[in-house]
Amino acid sequence: MTRIPTPAQYLLRIDDLCPTVHAGRWTRLRAIIDEFKIQPILAIVPDNHDPDLDASPPDPAFWNQMPSMQSAGAAIALHGLNHICDVQGKSLIPLLRTSEFAGAPLDVQRHRIARGLAILRSYGLAPKLFVAPRHGFDRNTLLALREQGIRYISDGFARVPFVRHGVTWIPMQLWSPVARASGLWTLCIHPNTADDASIECLRRFLRVHAQHFTSFDRVILEFDGVSSSIRERAYEIASAARVAIRRRINCLQRQGES
Ligand SMILES: [Zn+2]
Repeated sequence: MTRIPTPAQYLLRIDDLCPTVHAGRWTRLRAIIDEFKIQPILAIVPDNHDPDLDASPPDPAFWNQMPSMQSAGAAIALHGLNHICDVQGKSLIPLLRTSEFAGAPLDVQRHRIARGLAILRSYGLAPKLFVAPRHGFDRNTLLALREQGIRYISDGFARVPFVRHGVTWIPMQLWSPVARASGLWTLCIHPNTADDASIECLRRFLRVHAQHFTSFDRVILEFDGVSSSIRERAYEIASAARVAIRRRINCLQRQGES
């Protein structure tokens, strides 16, 4: 059985990276990554069509920057193909109703994954894992990933990685820095919406916890490749329910405020 790390370990994941990522905020985040020598997961949209991710004019240096961050230890993740979430279907992480993958026919999913991987590789990148836009993926997504040699995803609410449907899940449970006593915790940051206060909050957290940040490569080296224990599966189901309820409450509060 996989040991639950004590003290806690953390992974930093940066989402929605593409040439039009918010220039100022991404520059500040990169400075923090350098300062604390963090080896993050970089979730890159290979061919962005999502206007919500057009936060700055396209940066001509972007596709040179990614391979140098990869050389410094960052793990490259495929974050969809176009980031257009117009498919309705049930995801294995049922937080949102639409996504780019969950519910799409297998051939469509195969094409999106193959095309996305080819684009990233054409820029000298070696994608190692998949990060589903809006947590939307189903068994066909995992099948298409396996067929194309991608055997890791970043998602799920357990405290340790586990194997399910032939793929290793590295859990992703935090959207802002929170200290934990034990377990492996992936902290996901969206540069387009990370304002000054949240970037400062991340810096303060790293001042205390930087030595407990690990990397994708270390995690998969230390993971013993087993399925979840019954206890861990129960923890995961309870955590997923808590996250879903919290998101629902936040959504109702926003509707009440508007
Ligand atoms: Zn995204």
